[in-house]
Amino acid sequence: MSEDREDRLTLTGVAWDAWRTTRGGPFAVASRQEVRLEALVARARSSSRFYADHYRSVPPGPLGPGGLRRLPAVGKPALMERFDDWVTDPAVSRTGVEAFVADEANLGKDFLGRYVVFTTSGSTGEPALLVQDPRSVTVMTGLSYARAAGALPPGLGRRIVAQGLRQAAVFARGGHFLSTTMFERRLRAHPVRRRYTRFFSVLEPLPDLVAELNAFRPTLLATYASTLALLTEEQEAGRLRISPVVVTTGGELLLPAVRRRAEAVFGCVVTEAYAASEAMPLALPCRLGSLHVNSDWFVLEPVDAAGRPVPRGARSDSVLVTNLANYVQPVIRYQLGDSVVLGAARCACGSPLPTIQVEGRTDDILRLPGTDGGVSVLPMALATVVEETPGVRRFQVLQRAPASLSVRLDVDPGADREDVWRRVRDRLDELLRNHGCGPVDLALADEGPQVSPRSGKLRHVLAAVQERPEEASS
Ligand SMILES: [Zn+2]
Repeated sequence: MSEDREDRLTLTGVAWDAWRTTRGGPFAVASRQEVRLEALVARARSSSRFYADHYRSVPPGPLGPGGLRRLPAVGKPALMERFDDWVTDPAVSRTGVEAFVADEANLGKDFLGRYVVFTTSGSTGEPALLVQDPRSVTVMTGLSYARAAGALPPGLGRRIVAQGLRQAAVFARGGHFLSTTMFERRLRAHPVRRRYTRFFSVLEPLPDLVAELNAFRPTLLATYASTLALLTEEQEAGRLRISPVVVTTGGELLLPAVRRRAEAVFGCVVTEAYAASEAMPLALPCRLGSLHVNSDWFVLEPVDAAGRPVPRGARSDSVLVTNLANYVQPVIRYQLGDSVVLGAARCACGSPLPTIQVEGRTDDILRLPGTDGGVSVLPMALATVVEETPGVRRFQVLQRAPASLSVRLDVDPGADREDVWRRVRDRLDELLRNHGCGPVDLALADEGPQVSPRSGKLRHVLAAVQERPEEASS
């Protein structure tokens, strides 16, 4: 597709092209990425005052193969500070977008009749305002149509039809968050969906949420991973009685234990997507359960702490993302902050798209003093050790000081809190020693885990240096 044609993308065009690209192999992926990248960078340099300044020392003209690395990276604070220079449409201004999102009645409406706006909750840093043009929204939807179904087992459609299509979205209200906004937008575009789709807020009391889900009996359920863990316990306890066919999670770390337990308790498929408000959908699952990066539309560059590229198969400290679809607010080599591993080998499903493992989304990587310098402990390791301790219902680990961890714990009904805590402490102690940490003080907190009051998400691991006031207050 030429750049000119790509300005007028259609949903079927994107879906068809995505299908052909996957069939075409690594070369088809790379060539699309290259053409789209040149077009995006040219647009950013000509129409965004921010990028015109930022790239002043980079020679004009095509970047050529591998040329992306010559462009300096960008971060959210610098872009937000120069919001009006960042966007390529002079009709879009920070004051205008702020006024738009301040009105909750605008949820699911398009800004200026043509742009989709997301706000981030600020649970992982300062809030951002993200504007997507129609081109970007078409790619978002087209990719989901073409690639998201790959993870579902055959015969699923028949099961859903047999039980009745009822779709529940269990997310947070109170902001123009990605999931909430896209949900409301689809309802506005197709009011008929209101017959079989319903929104539930994770911020309402659990017994109310359980009662409403029991009445609705969803066959499809989308929610955060921590909410899924909670609903799984409610189902086990017999209070929740639903039989979804597919559960989709995103936005948080989905622990393997939580996934296995949910699949067993609900007897359903649990899938996971990787998306950011800056770039969506970054990765979608295949039938083998691997997440595949949509690298024909998004460039992901895993980097180390100094910003140097990290090879495939190795864990990164951060990741730079380039969104090839959105022209109104170009996102080029943008610091996303997630720690990822790009797969070194091709997935057995046959897709040429690289696989990815994601860590440190909403959870922090802890830096602890070691017997031989500083030690990094990944949230997945820490969370798995605590999560799989018998008797643990929900937990949160806070680093209060460089060598001091405080654990907030909810235990199963009937379990002895002190007993459970001793087991958690022993397992944590062992994990930290195996990581080469020096002595770390482990303490049980008086209070239970605190869900972010704004985003409704539960962050399992919080580092001292990055502790946010909203979670720290208790
Ligand atoms: Zn695969």
